[in-house]
Amino acid sequence: METQVFGGEPREARPARPVMRAMTLGFRGKCPHCGEGKLFSSFLKTVDRCETCGEEMHHHRADDLPAYLVVLVVGHIVVGAFMGIEAASTLSTWQHLAIWIPLTIFSALALIRPIKGAVVGLQWANYMHGFGGEDDLLESHPET
Ligand SMILES: [Zn+2]
Repeated sequence: METQVFGGEPREARPARPVMRAMTLGFRGKCPHCGEGKLFSSFLKTVDRCETCGEEMHHHRADDLPAYLVVLVVGHIVVGAFMGIEAASTLSTWQHLAIWIPLTIFSALALIRPIKGAVVGLQWANYMHGFGGEDDLLESHPET
């Protein structure tokens, strides 16, 4: 019976990067490698390179995952809270709107940056998208 090999050629062993530490540092807006440098140069734009340790951050491909996770988290909190308050009170529709719309907007804005940092930390810890030294574009599209 022939052995099937998935995922291409085996790579040489690389040192394990602690995932939870990297995600926690990213969540706090710090470089997942050294924990000292800033991860973001503006609200959601990551730095190209860590100013402290020089780790390149432009490899990340967080894409839509942070927004998806924010919708998932905020949606469950706000909808659950709305349903609880609705069942226990007699608030009118405009009172509900006055509570839940600002809470939703504030929560989403407060969470998007930390969650994006955690996603970048996750990608860094798993050597994804060029964080391992390979060119991500050549890997996924060898014909280009
Ligand atoms: Zn760093």
